[in-house]
Amino acid sequence: MVDGIKQCYFCQNTVSPFQWRANDTADVECSVCGPYRILAAAGYEWHAGKWHDRLHVLSGTIRNQNERGINVLVGSLDDLGNSTAVPEGPLERIDHIVMYLLRKMKTYDAAVTIIPQNDYSVAYTKNPDEFKFLLNKCIELGYVEEALGEDYRLTLKGWQHASELDMAKERPRQAFVAMSFNPVLNTAYSEGIKAALETCGYFPLRIDRVEHNDQIDDQIVAGIRSSGLLVADFTGHRQGVYFELGFAMGLGIK
Ligand SMILES: [Zn+2]
Repeated sequence: MVDGIKQCYFCQNTVSPFQWRANDTADVECSVCGPYRILAAAGYEWHAGKWHDRLHVLSGTIRNQNERGINVLVGSLDDLGNSTAVPEGPLERIDHIVMYLLRKMKTYDAAVTIIPQNDYSVAYTKNPDEFKFLLNKCIELGYVEEALGEDYRLTLKGWQHASELDMAKERPRQAFVAMSFNPVLNTAYSEGIKAALETCGYFPLRIDRVEHNDQIDDQIVAGIRSSGLLVADFTGHRQGVYFELGFAMGLGIK
């Protein structure tokens, strides 16, 4: 991999030139996706054209993991792209904007600065214009009102909608999936576990990770903490799965 790349892999925005370390990882600071660490293997997949028609999905996934306090590690593009449920239509994307405002508002009357050029990946949109269009729809629907300049806040109807989304007060409907990343299990994940969780209204989160000396990544810990459910698959007997289950039990997560 060459050093000094100045473009984010996933949103194509300009970033500070990043360097590849001896262990084949690089840290990218992107103002749209947020910070992420990428493995050279994922960089090669990108150069081979993988996921190029759905890069905005990857950008949105990274941004939303960052918003949940996860230190993002991109090990492979498939694992990243399949790790979470991606909003399908405009209404689900609008819900992401509402929930984003809810998380960012420190008091009920506080306004949140939204800069479409930096924040469009929050709603998995392809560009700032598509995001602005949906933000205006949030206003038309009566969920959001403009404060000054680029500041926005939720309306009473917006609060009501957020609580109906069942994410405001309840335990998050995110389900952490602890399993081996052996590629032979990818179908079991995508057609079995992920599909079943989505049917039950959960957003599966399968964090891409590299096995290294049994060290537990911060992102695994943060991912479990922010989940309301943990699904453990012991196929392959990956040691980390046992840790993840024990940690979740300690936190009282089912
Ligand atoms: Zn980016």
